[in-house]
Amino acid sequence: MKWETLGFNDIPDILNSVDDGLFQGLLDYAYDVKRKTVGTKVYFRGLIEYSNICIKNCYYCGIRRDNRSARRYTMTPAEVADAGMLAYRQGMGSVVLQSGERTDGAFIDTVTDLIVRLKEVSGGKLGITLSLGEQSPDVYRRWFDAGAHRYLLRIETSSPALYARLHPADHDYGRRVECLSVLKGIGYQTGTGVMIGLPYQTAGDLAGDIEFFRDMDIDMIGMGPYILHSDTPLASGFEDAHATQTERFRLSLKMVALTRILLRDVNIAATTALQVLDPAGREKALRAGANIIMPNITPSKYRPDYTLYQGKPCADEEPEQCMGCLNARIRMIGEEVGLNEWGDSPRFKERAEAATASSIPVRNDT
Ligand code: SAH
Ligand code: SF4
Repeated sequence: MKWETLGFNDIPDILNSVDDGLFQGLLDYAYDVKRKTVGTKVYFRGLIEYSNICIKNCYYCGIRRDNRSARRYTMTPAEVADAGMLAYRQGMGSVVLQSGERTDGAFIDTVTDLIVRLKEVSGGKLGITLSLGEQSPDVYRRWFDAGAHRYLLRIETSSPALYARLHPADHDYGRRVECLSVLKGIGYQTGTGVMIGLPYQTAGDLAGDIEFFRDMDIDMIGMGPYILHSDTPLASGFEDAHATQTERFRLSLKMVALTRILLRDVNIAATTALQVLDPAGREKALRAGANIIMPNITPSKYRPDYTLYQGKPCADEEPEQCMGCLNARIRMIGEEVGLNEWGDSPRFKERAEAATASSIPVRNDT
């Protein structure tokens, strides 16, 4: 394979290939592209799993509304502020506030206050990413005005037909795309992503996902393997359509590598779900082109209840322990840790400069 001339049309064949030499060649080339485009600094985003209460019912997710066996919680504002402070003191540069979806006024007000508080505890320095699902344009704007500057909203799959099979009829693919456009228009650095190895997902669908990232001009990408949760409709109803763990893991690394090669200067997360399928999954993703890690800084008492999927690692470890262990793991593979930086993607920085010239609101750490 001549990696220099790799194009979007080659993606399905590479994803379907079982050749080990081709697999390794792909990862090595992607790592080379990573070194030349974004370098070998790994940026941290401390992940705060704020609440597992959700009004949605995605068929794959363990905290979906109708899962009666999930024990529901919401962190207190003081716990969120403490987590933010901890992230800041450890040099993480930014945090991600993630939760199940809620659209009621009390939730929107509380999140607005939390954003302000996270800024305060860090003297305005901590970068704030939100991952709180689909909201109205007004709400997105309110949170941006309060100080959030990045938003993660995975499209889950770019195939509308597959999206419809994975969600109830009132979950709308078009609305999700619209939300991504609104977020970008407001000036958020916008992240999206997909699950890999979903039942009925084809190599063509996955190729379409990378094209979707390109067409939406996305700054940050978070992709990970789909992992079963036994209390969900997808785990119980589609057994014959599930890929094996090994297949899902290899496919995920290939997707990271292909995205790095084809989109070059974006931020790509080495997601926690990778670590569920392989203890060194995140490090392997860094070697395949990823450059972001999201250490979990949720208080350990809540972690067992934020089960989007089963088998999450470090569920009983305190956040401080995770950081020490992560630093060592990153240095072991020859990379550096980017401390106290927001770590914007070069792609976003370029767009920010162009936007400043045309007065679109943007926020960056320069
Ligand atoms: N409620 C928000 C954010 C929390 S869910 C939202 O849905 O956008 C965050 C992500 O977890 C989802 O985007 C989905 O891609 C991922 N997720 C949910 N269930 C999963 C599963 N069974 N396996 C892997 N990832 C899953
Ligand atoms: Fe709720 Fe997000 Fe899970 Fe869907 S994926 S059920 S929106 S937490």
